[in-house]
Amino acid sequence: MKVIKEIAAMQDVADYFRCVGKKIGFVPTMGFLHKGHVSLIDKAKEENDVVVVSIFVNPTQFLPGEDFEKYPRDFLKDYFSCEKAGVDYIFHPSVEEMYSAKSRTRVVVSEITDSLEGKARPDHFTGVATVVAKLFNIVKPNIAYFGQKDAQQAVVIRQVSEDLNFDLKVSICPTVREENGLALSSRNSYLSDAEREEAAAIYKGLCEGKKLVINNSVSDSNAVIGKIGETIKANSKNINIEYIEITDNCDLKKIYDLSSYKGDVLISLAAKLGDTRLIDNILFTK
Ligand code: AMP
Repeated sequence: MKVIKEIAAMQDVADYFRCVGKKIGFVPTMGFLHKGHVSLIDKAKEENDVVVVSIFVNPTQFLPGEDFEKYPRDFLKDYFSCEKAGVDYIFHPSVEEMYSAKSRTRVVVSEITDSLEGKARPDHFTGVATVVAKLFNIVKPNIAYFGQKDAQQAVVIRQVSEDLNFDLKVSICPTVREENGLALSSRNSYLSDAEREEAAAIYKGLCEGKKLVINNSVSDSNAVIGKIGETIKANSKNINIEYIEITDNCDLKKIYDLSSYKGDVLISLAAKLGDTRLIDNILFTK
């Protein structure tokens, strides 16, 4: 496994593999890798000849006052996780390498970024879309892998890839969870053991919501949202829900009447536990 820090060197490697007809699988990450990231690497290994993982904590997707500085980082540990998972290249650029002082271009995605995380974190998805577009031009993958854990990010990246005609496939992989249901996340390292147990209430709530929708037992989506909130509150004293929304999984438009709706249903949620902000979702077809 090799570590590449320069954009030009990564592009040369990518050009070589493209030229000799090898398929490049790409897993973009911010590091502090866990089993969720490894599941994406495993899928990339299965489907490609070469696997590239990027490790880059992207400053432009953090808002002022967010946790950019204290975001967990442990490159050595990540190095060994990647090596064990059979990664071929780690792309690990500096902030200066990715954003020169003259950088002026941003990728702005409209409408689907107005709600959910985009509403709670204005400009977050401009940072995400910009860095992902840059990484696609640097790593030149055939297939890029993302997690369903970040549901809106998945929708945004599919849109960017289509709108900007990137010559690649975007593959969205299932959320990997702890045994108690808590979705794995690098930010879970901010939680105490007791908080990790308590945070399991979030997935219990989402599962309850799914059950109500699938069984057609409640047709008003606001009533389902209320029940999800009640389930979370019944299982946790300290979780403060920021939003719960029920949407489709393409335009992220709210579904109001569930009884007449057919198609993919996405229930998304953000909540705070102490100082830690957690997001999760459940996606299913009705
Ligand atoms: P991050 O390092 O948090 O930016 O995540 C890098 C990629 O891993 C993104 O595509 C995430 O959606 C994905 N990811 C994060 N957590 C999980 C998880 N628990 N299961 C599956 N994929 C995940």
